[in-house]
Amino acid sequence: MRRPFVAGNWKMNLNRAQAVELAAGLAAKAGEHGHVEIGVCPPSIYLEAVRQSLGNSTIGLGGQNCYHEAKGAFTGEISPAMLVDQKCKYVILGHSERRHIFKETSQDVNKKVLAALAAGLTPIVCVGELLEERKAGRTGTVVQEQFDGSLAGLTSDQAGKIVIAYEPVWAIGTGVVATPEQAEEVHADLRKLLESRYNPAVAASVRIQYGGSVTAENAKTLLTQPNIDGALVGGASLKVDSFLGILAAAK
Ligand code: PEP
Repeated sequence: MRRPFVAGNWKMNLNRAQAVELAAGLAAKAGEHGHVEIGVCPPSIYLEAVRQSLGNSTIGLGGQNCYHEAKGAFTGEISPAMLVDQKCKYVILGHSERRHIFKETSQDVNKKVLAALAAGLTPIVCVGELLEERKAGRTGTVVQEQFDGSLAGLTSDQAGKIVIAYEPVWAIGTGVVATPEQAEEVHADLRKLLESRYNPAVAASVRIQYGGSVTAENAKTLLTQPNIDGALVGGASLKVDSFLGILAAAK
């Protein structure tokens, strides 16, 4: 049995007071959703404030990105160890905004995944196709290339420690959600890849989140698909009620 995992990606949103208020609102209700693993990934500058606001709740903290080097002259970057120092459990890697706006390649993502694992973080590794790639019938190829490139060199033991997020780029922040059938098809393919590249135990245990315009209203039909084990949520993670609605759907 894979425990559902729902994580909020706050992206570059909220100010300090809003981040603290959102974290406190979620922390107050997290206990009602013990069946779900819950994570929030605030802007890194607010990690400390959000951590304090989460208090002793079961909500885990995550970074939205990190660099692969441990330290040095890398202005503006954050190391995996720095995220651990801030009590982060997770780090989102290879998000489509990193891939497409900041031109990160799967090779870049791969270095980050290995560095994050070495530091003890759980990488949430994102893959997903562009609309034109889907229309051209290339979804399977693109997702497989991102999977293989981003996870190159991982042992089965390491692969067993990651979370994968399937996020079709055309569904992110657009209000256009993948149908449960479209998402399930890719999730099932990803699970087959986990089995063929690693082993059946890894395939059975790794959580594969869906991300892309998930709301409290559409979460249930997505999260009841056999290979969808949770959600990576952008816009709907910025309000207490909508995020709680998704947690409630993740039973
Ligand atoms: C995301 O940024 O990972 C995401 C899925 O965003 P949204 O839920 O807003 O589509």
